[in-house]
Amino acid sequence: MADIIDGKAFAAKLRREIAAEVARLPYQPGLAVVLVGDDAASKVYVASKEKQTIEAGMRSFAHRLPAGATQGELLALVRALNENPEVHGILVQLPLPKHLDADEVIAAISPGKDVDGLTVANAGRLVAGLPGLVPCTPLGCLLLLRDVLPDMTGLHAVVIGRSNLVGKPIAQLLLQQNCTVTMAHSKTRDLPGLCRMADILVAAVGRPEMVKGDWVKPGAVVIDVGINRVPAGMEGKTKLAGDVAYEEAAKIAGKITPVPGGVGPMTIACLLRNTLTAAKRLQGAS
Ligand code: NDP
Repeated sequence: MADIIDGKAFAAKLRREIAAEVARLPYQPGLAVVLVGDDAASKVYVASKEKQTIEAGMRSFAHRLPAGATQGELLALVRALNENPEVHGILVQLPLPKHLDADEVIAAISPGKDVDGLTVANAGRLVAGLPGLVPCTPLGCLLLLRDVLPDMTGLHAVVIGRSNLVGKPIAQLLLQQNCTVTMAHSKTRDLPGLCRMADILVAAVGRPEMVKGDWVKPGAVVIDVGINRVPAGMEGKTKLAGDVAYEEAAKIAGKITPVPGGVGPMTIACLLRNTLTAAKRLQGAS
């Protein structure tokens, strides 16, 4: 049976370390979170981000705009936050209502405050191997992997999923760790066969339990990024499922992240880490 990679415990430790570092700073890092509209899941995420920001000793600036906010209003807010010296990190909660252009909004965020790592500038810096701000979920995956595999040199990593938010940055981070990286996606041929060659298997697909036990190489490290809501029993109840068929895969893998309690808790912890990183760089520069 595989060892469980406990992302919840790792994230709690990371948050404690961040809080300790924040307490030693002569200034208070600040994170601005912008929420547009009433999407229920987004409200929960934003509330959780605000709570953990404050618990880490940072300032939380919450900006809630109505669902009917215009592109101009949102851009004006982002630009004001860019200029505000008390704000070191800016996060615009996605998805935005359909009438808004998320790409233009993200492009308006100052790269130095882009704690989600979504601007083209930060994506480019990651590919070029330059210091920047790395998207939170991929960074969380890397920290978990480095904890269990301090030296990944020469290992074959297969990343399923090629989104700008998750798959592509994870692949870049693993390349920087000297892995041999294969990126798989919906057009990949013989995905099960490819996965069976992976020493590190990262699933970031959005399809519940797609990766079966017999896709996993014995002893491999499996990182399940997927967060899918699936029916649970009667009465319309739901539960969370990953992209990996956990019960089967855990019998074959060497180490595996569960869902929930694996990658998920690392995302907000890494948002705090990025805010601290951004604050130190911005304060150092000023
Ligand atoms: P996207 O929908 O943007 O990307 C999904 C990727 O999976 C695409 O590259 C797609 O390929 C690929 N894919 C889809 N179907 C298949 C298939 N049958 N075989 C192989 N590849 C396939 O999703 P995200 O990257 O944003 O998110 C992925 C998962 O991670 C989701 O479950 C999401 O909820 C979760 N997530 C979790 C976070 C966390 O905090 N833990 C944060 C962010 C996301 P193609 O490009 O060819 O279409």
